Amino acid sequence: MVRPVIGHRGPAMEALMERVQPRLRQLFRTARPVYVSTSSATGLMESAIRNCAPQRVLSLVCGAFSERFYKIAVACGREADRIDVDFGESNEPGQLIDALGGGGYDAVTVVHSETSTGVLNPLGEIAAAVREASPGTLVLVDCVTSLAATPVEVDDWGLDFALTGSQKGMALPPGLAFGVASQRAYERSLETPGRGLYFSFEAFEGAVARNQTANTPAASLLYALDVQLERIEAEGLEARWARHRAMAERTWAWVDEMREGRGLDLRVLAAEGRRSPSVTCVAVPEGLSGVEITRRMAERGYTIASGYGKLKESTFRIGHMGDHTIEELDALLEELASVITGRG
Ligand SMILES: *Cc1c(COP(=O)(O)O)cnc(C)c1O
Repeated sequence: MVRPVIGHRGPAMEALMERVQPRLRQLFRTARPVYVSTSSATGLMESAIRNCAPQRVLSLVCGAFSERFYKIAVACGREADRIDVDFGESNEPGQLIDALGGGGYDAVTVVHSETSTGVLNPLGEIAAAVREASPGTLVLVDCVTSLAATPVEVDDWGLDFALTGSQKGMALPPGLAFGVASQRAYERSLETPGRGLYFSFEAFEGAVARNQTANTPAASLLYALDVQLERIEAEGLEARWARHRAMAERTWAWVDEMREGRGLDLRVLAAEGRRSPSVTCVAVPEGLSGVEITRRMAERGYTIASGYGKLKESTFRIGHMGDHTIEELDALLEELASVITGRG
């Protein structure tokens, strides 16, 4: 990233864009072009709404990021409805069949791995349920903490738009976002009025076809992307998923050991079978504070996060994603145990 910036209409940049495209498609498990956006992930959430949903949106809400998708739809002037579950619970296919029965939704929004609660929604089943109940409704998915961490089968699951940001599962610095639209979502976008320009699928699609970006890209971040995609390929996508799975299981086992071995009532907020492989949200008993635990870990050189929104004090979150290793995680969990039992 410290290399000099190259001209974005020159052959060196075209070669770079040509090199990253097949690797991005492997990551998204798609044959469709992958859009490269100079924005954070939220930019492509907004892009999804503006291109795919001219009028009505149904948002599945199970935490702060899935609620953001709903708020974006409202902010873009869409008529948006939401189906809420309690924080810590998952969105399930059965919940939306009735709502979709009436038809008329252009799109459903869903977050695969809800980072605020550590819940992994059953995305393949949700997409299949939407397709069955309302075939014309597009499925728009935030895969920010699932892509490159756990299986996301864009083509096989029939996802109409799947997006991620650079700084979570892909372990790059922040500032880029990536998305892939199904052929039918792309075609829908061409007929959607007011879709804007910077985030229009048409602009992205044209740019990929020319091995370019529509506007000036964050060239330094693209250098990093080029290297990181090579590293992900070298590790192997399946191996990367397995490493995330192993880190998550280690964390859950640690929570159980704290409860059963040391008598501290810690619990993984998400139910078994619906836990994210990349982030664990741990509920703490009365008398312990997520904010305080996070602060004390920071003093010891470890970054974890307190809970989100109303869960701020009653939970903390451990991100075990990207390029982290089991060894690093073990060191963190050991320190965390001493912080928590020290307060006792
Ligand atoms: C971090 C995150 C986002 C937002 O990403 P930005 O890069 O800050 O725009 C969206 N969704 C999920 C699930 C996230 O974890």
